[in-house]
Amino acid sequence: MFAAPVNRLITELARLPGIGQRTAQRLAFHILSASEDEALALADAIREVKATVGHCEVCFNLATEATCRICQDERREAAIICVVEQPSDVIPIERSGEFHGRYHVLGGALSPIDGVDPEDLHIAELLERASSNGVTEVVVATNATTTGEATALYLADALRERAPSVTVTRLASGLPVGSDLEYSDEITLGRAFRGRREL
Ligand SMILES: [Zn+2]
Repeated sequence: MFAAPVNRLITELARLPGIGQRTAQRLAFHILSASEDEALALADAIREVKATVGHCEVCFNLATEATCRICQDERREAAIICVVEQPSDVIPIERSGEFHGRYHVLGGALSPIDGVDPEDLHIAELLERASSNGVTEVVVATNATTTGEATALYLADALRERAPSVTVTRLASGLPVGSDLEYSDEITLGRAFRGRREL
């Protein structure tokens, strides 16, 4: 229907989460009608983020250096590690102001049907961290979805075996079932943190 380059842009935009064909078309036409500077600023921002942002070598959160800003912050308690699925999950927890420890980003949740096994996530690194340097608690803040819950149970078992002195806790219920952490508001999340229970 459109020229090949326009189709290509629509196809790429439609790959973004939450963007359907219609929205992709609307965005493509917006970009086409924007000035060259404005449109290329978007392209440059994408290129820059891919070139400069990587993963923290300790916790796998996003980082522009070898380690992320949270791991570099001496004021953060090293004894408590909060485990999340994705780097985007760190943001709502930070916003809740309830957590002052460190993070560990798994890179997803266990889902054997989709071929996501423990080796595919940063689980070995978590067990290593939890069993070494004075860690007393691991808070499992994976999503309240089937895969997030299955991951939490798996981690609780694995941690009991590898780091028996560490208390494993799960965020309190109150987070909507089946929901992603990313979308919960900070008050609910803060409450879930304070009410966390042992797994
Ligand atoms: Zn880090």
